[in-house]
Amino acid sequence: MSAQKKQVRKAFRAAVFERDGYSCRACGFRSSPERAEAELDAHHITDRNEMPNGGYVAENGVTLCADCQKNAEAHHRGDPVPPGFAPEDLYGLIGSSEGAARAAADKE
Ligand SMILES: [Zn+2]
Repeated sequence: MSAQKKQVRKAFRAAVFERDGYSCRACGFRSSPERAEAELDAHHITDRNEMPNGGYVAENGVTLCADCQKNAEAHHRGDPVPPGFAPEDLYGLIGSSEGAARAAADKE
C-alpha cells in the first residue's frame, strides 16, 4: 500500500469512527478513540471496487464491530445477508445512500 493510500484509509477510518461516536452502529457496541483501531472497522458499504476513487468517504462508511462486520461482508461475498445488514440498511444507519456516497466520492 502506498503512503498516500495509507493516508486516505487512515483519514476515512478517523472520519467514520468520529461521526459514529466510536460505537458499532448496528449493535451499539461501544469502543473508544484509544481502542477503535483494534475493536472497530470502518466498513465500506458499497465495495471499494464499485465506487469512484475507492469510495473512501464518510458517506460510504459505517462503524461496525468485528461480529457485525462479518454480517455486512456477506453481501460482498455474495452470501445471504443477515437481516439489517444489506447496503440500504447500513446506509440508513448513517443517514446516507448509495447516491450520496457516489456524489461525495466523485469529488475526491
Ligand atoms: Zn456490532
